[in-house]
Amino acid sequence: MPSPETATLIIVFDEEAPHASRLRPLALLGLPSGPDMRVRWHEPGLVTARLAAVPDPGVLEELEGLPGVRRIRLLRGGERLVTTGGTAPEAIFAAAGERKGDTSVIAGPCSVESESQVLDIARFVKSAGAVALRGGAFKPRTSPYAFGGLGTEGLRLLARAREETGLPIVTEVLDAADLDLVAEVADVLQIGSRNMHCYPLLYRVGRNRQRKPILLKRGFAATLEEFLDAAEYVALGQLAAGRSEPCLMLCERGLRSPVQSTRFSLDVGAVPALQAETRLPVIVDPSHPAGLEPFVLPLASAALAAGADGLLVEVHFDPASAWCDGPQSLGYRQFESLMQIAREQAALRPARFAVRLEA
Ligand code: PEP
Ligand code: MN
Repeated sequence: MPSPETATLIIVFDEEAPHASRLRPLALLGLPSGPDMRVRWHEPGLVTARLAAVPDPGVLEELEGLPGVRRIRLLRGGERLVTTGGTAPEAIFAAAGERKGDTSVIAGPCSVESESQVLDIARFVKSAGAVALRGGAFKPRTSPYAFGGLGTEGLRLLARAREETGLPIVTEVLDAADLDLVAEVADVLQIGSRNMHCYPLLYRVGRNRQRKPILLKRGFAATLEEFLDAAEYVALGQLAAGRSEPCLMLCERGLRSPVQSTRFSLDVGAVPALQAETRLPVIVDPSHPAGLEPFVLPLASAALAAGADGLLVEVHFDPASAWCDGPQSLGYRQFESLMQIAREQAALRPARFAVRLEA
């Protein structure tokens, strides 16, 4: 006899639903109301349950009709929200279909330094064809003595840059305590490589009140399975926030390896491998693996040749004076060359997605 197919059930509750109504679905599934290793409460309002078999359609229907239950999702076997088909990603990741020539390059300084710095760079990358401005206000720095970003002042300057150029803003959330502040300004919330393993942060950022989409960077020692699980935490948070489909981009940014010729080893193969597993846009950051400016364009070309849906690139008008990651920042002339390469590559193949962000 074939063994029954396992399943995972995700139950999203109305936030005001009383506790008692949250226990009824568990009873219906034959699960105890007390602690149980199969049941996980992702507060608030979302429960997941691992089941030994796929429930009958009648049970699922009954579950859906229970008071306080807003939505249920069934995942079979090893499926994830981020790997099951579903609908096309939402408008910001407009599916580019067969159209050629789309280049989705997100560019800007490693960190926001001053109003004149961020405005100058924003104006330039916009004129060169970037679709969004990146810039860190809250920076994850290895040394506690290194510049950690301008914080809320950095956010204010990013908002000014958007006002001035119309470019949407991509900036990092380092700590859940800053989430609301960052989400007020960011059009896309970045979760950095170091935080890819910070599971409560992933869930909470996914659940952000402002419903901003996420750019998730791969941990620099993470397998693709670990990366997809991290994306799943974000997707669960988004489901709890009422989104019906995951709304995030995955970003490959290089792995720690014995190779010392570059700062990190760019896993170019991750691009087709992730695209085979998920319908999410897969972009590449060639700056952090390069570590040095002369390597950025070759890595960007490799990423585009491998089919990346977009790039995330560090740019500065005077890389030598940058407060953070100057050695890997492109100057303006080099960024123009990168955009040229990106356009040529895009003309060669239909894009999966144009990462079209709306400010
Ligand atoms: C960044 O893109 O600003 C950054 C800090 O990169 P990573 O998290 O990949 O190190
Ligand atoms: Mn950087």
